[in-house]
Amino acid sequence: MKPTDTLNRPLRDLRISVTDRCNFRCTYCMPKGVFGRDYQFMPQDQLLSFEEIDRVARIFVSLGVNKLRLTGGEPLMRRELETLIELLAAIPGVDDLAMTTNGSFPVERIHSLQAAGLQRITVSLDALDDPTFMAMNDVDFPVKQVLDWVEASAAAGLSPVKVNMVVKRGVNEHSILPMARYFCEHGHILRFIEYMDVGSSNGWRLDDVVSARQISDSIHAELPIEPAQPNYRGEVANRYRYLDGSGEIGIIASVTQPFCGDCSRARLSADGKLYTCLFALAGADLRAALRDGASDAEIAAQVAAIWQKRTDRYSELRSASTQDLPKPEMSYIGG
Ligand code: SAM
Repeated sequence: MKPTDTLNRPLRDLRISVTDRCNFRCTYCMPKGVFGRDYQFMPQDQLLSFEEIDRVARIFVSLGVNKLRLTGGEPLMRRELETLIELLAAIPGVDDLAMTTNGSFPVERIHSLQAAGLQRITVSLDALDDPTFMAMNDVDFPVKQVLDWVEASAAAGLSPVKVNMVVKRGVNEHSILPMARYFCEHGHILRFIEYMDVGSSNGWRLDDVVSARQISDSIHAELPIEPAQPNYRGEVANRYRYLDGSGEIGIIASVTQPFCGDCSRARLSADGKLYTCLFALAGADLRAALRDGASDAEIAAQVAAIWQKRTDRYSELRSASTQDLPKPEMSYIGG
C-alpha cells in the first residue's frame, strides 16, 4: 500500500535523525544560551538502535519511500554510523541514500561512509571567511576543513555534492556572492536556505530573513541566472542556472515561497517519533510500537494511517501567531 495524504501527497522521502547532539553551536540552530554545558541530550537507551532504524526504514520503503537522508544533530556524532549505512544501503527500493553533515569530521571518513553504501553528501557551510563562519558555528571551526570535505566528497564520487548556506540578515548576506562564485568555479551546487522559524530557541524574526528574491536578485546582478525546471516533483530547492552555462544554484524558500503542496517528506527523530512536517508540534511514537512487539504490518498500518490523515502545510499558513508555537528543535527533529 502506498498511502497519500489529504492533499494527495505521496510518501517518498524519509529523513532520519540519528542523534540530537552536534559539535557546532550554530546561532540559528543550537544557540549556546540554550544548548549549553548543562543541556540534557537524549540518553543512549532512548535512541533507536541501528536495527530499529533499519526496521522502520524498511517499513517506510514498503509504503513508497525511495529516498533516505541521514541527519541530526550531526549524524557523524553517532558512533559507527557506517554500520547503519550498510543496513540501509541493503534495502531493496532505496534509490537515494544521502547524508547532511557539517563537514567537521576527518575527511578520511568519507571513504568508509562510501564503502558502506552512502551515495550522496550535502555539506552545510554558511560563509567563506573564518570570522563570519566561526561567529555562526560559535565553536571557532574554520572554513578550510569544511571545504576539504566538499572536495574530498566530490573526488570520491559522492556527487553532485550540495552545499547548504543559511542566509541570515545582517550576519552573512555579504557571503552570498563569494559563495556563489566559489562553488560555481568548483562545480558544486550551492543552495541558499531562507532562515526558518524552526524550534523555539533561535529567536527567529521575519526581519532576519533574506528572501529568495533578494538572494536571486543579488546574484543575478553579478552572475546572470535564469530559473530552471525542477528535477522531480517535490524538489525542495528552486533551481537556477547560470546563463553562461557554468552551473546551477538552488534556493530553498520555505518562508517566502512555501512548497508544502509537493511535500513528500517524513521525519524520524532519534528517539523514534514520526513527524510529518518540520514544523509539526508533536510526533507519533514509533519506538513504543517497535519495543512493544508490534509486527511490521501493524507499524506499517500505523504509519499509513498517520500519513493518510496528514494535513500539514505550516509554511503556507505561517503568520505572526504561528512563530511562537512550541515547535521541536531542528537538532532533535532532524534538518
Ligand atoms: N549537522 C548537520 C549539518 O550541519 O548539516 C545536519 C543537521 S542541520 C540541522 C541540517 C541543516 O539545517 C543545515 O544545513 C543547517 O544549516 C540547517 N538549519 C538549521 N537551522 C536552520 C534554520 N533555523 N533555518 C534554516 N536552516 C537551518
